[in-house]
Amino acid sequence: MHSEIAKLAHLQDVEQQAAALTTQMAAYSQKISAREQALAQTSRELEENQEKLVKEAASRRRMESDTEDMRLKRARYVAQLDGVQSDSQAKALEHQIVFCKQEIDRIEELEFTSLMQTETLETQQRTLHETIANQKQGLAAEQTDAQLGRDRDKALLSELNGERAIVRGSVEPSLLAEYDRLSSARKNAVAFVERQRCSACQMMVRPQRWNEIREGAVHFCESCGRFLYYNPAVDLSADIKLPSVAKKPANPVTTAAQTAATGSDYPARED
Ligand SMILES: [Zn+2]
Repeated sequence: MHSEIAKLAHLQDVEQQAAALTTQMAAYSQKISAREQALAQTSRELEENQEKLVKEAASRRRMESDTEDMRLKRARYVAQLDGVQSDSQAKALEHQIVFCKQEIDRIEELEFTSLMQTETLETQQRTLHETIANQKQGLAAEQTDAQLGRDRDKALLSELNGERAIVRGSVEPSLLAEYDRLSSARKNAVAFVERQRCSACQMMVRPQRWNEIREGAVHFCESCGRFLYYNPAVDLSADIKLPSVAKKPANPVTTAAQTAATGSDYPARED
């Protein structure tokens, strides 16, 4: 693996691994932030629930005081009934007494509804507290995982960056410049040749070039312009003398056996 093209293929691999690591490192913060947002949302719900509970309790205290007033009024009217002088006065008082009783019943009905509502809110309150406890635990675990992951990724990334610098320093500058130009224009600067085709655009590679590429020569794809690289470890089919028709899917057992038998046909050449 010392030809220029092999170095570029290796460089691409290193740079893609580094990019994947960078993406992964950004994902830690996103995951933590998602958990923080969920926790904040539940905390808001808990606060709202708490406010509703306070409101219900306050409104029940008002209701209790209202019913107490009504009871006192009613007792007063009942007491006044004893001293009434006329039928109309008695009727008016009786009317008031009935009204008080109806009011007391109505308010007690409301009080009952409020108690039921409080029970529901208290159940929600407990659930929200449990949810918050779980979310806090999940967040702490996520933060620990992220820290471990970041440390590991950072170490790995620093290794990859070191490797990247070494490889870049060893590649011929004009090829490296072309590699950088292609990398920024497209996702990959180097495409593998598999079954005599460019893996990026599927264009067939002409036989003469195919042979040269397999010997480590630098060639570009005539269609997509990428560097073409042949890696025997990736494309085992190239070593198998199959008739050009009937391209069956590679059978791993047969392929491995045939590769072992014919592997020495292509000694690696170093340029
Ligand atoms: Zn191509």
